[in-house]
Amino acid sequence: MEQLFVEKNILAASERLGIAQEQLDAAIQAYDASRPDVEAIKGASERLREARLCIEQIQQHIDASAEVVPAKRNCPACGKTIRAQATLCGYCWTKVSPAS
Ligand SMILES: [Zn+2]
Repeated sequence: MEQLFVEKNILAASERLGIAQEQLDAAIQAYDASRPDVEAIKGASERLREARLCIEQIQQHIDASAEVVPAKRNCPACGKTIRAQATLCGYCWTKVSPAS
């Protein structure tokens, strides 16, 4: 449950950083290249990109450690192994109620 909270917030942070970067990139496009602050904005966009990369690496680390502690169960429809928190079987797409 704690892990779900972390994953959810990492995803939310990543999405917002992505939006911020898109907005900055759009601003850079609209800018006159001769403006003195365009380099600073390009730098900010680059830092955002790096932050998103950091978040992605954290996500991968969490995913990797989640494999060590498997919260798994079998799909009631097809019997394949799925995540305990899954609401949809990744194999047969049957909707399943998440394990409590
Ligand atoms: Zn299934």
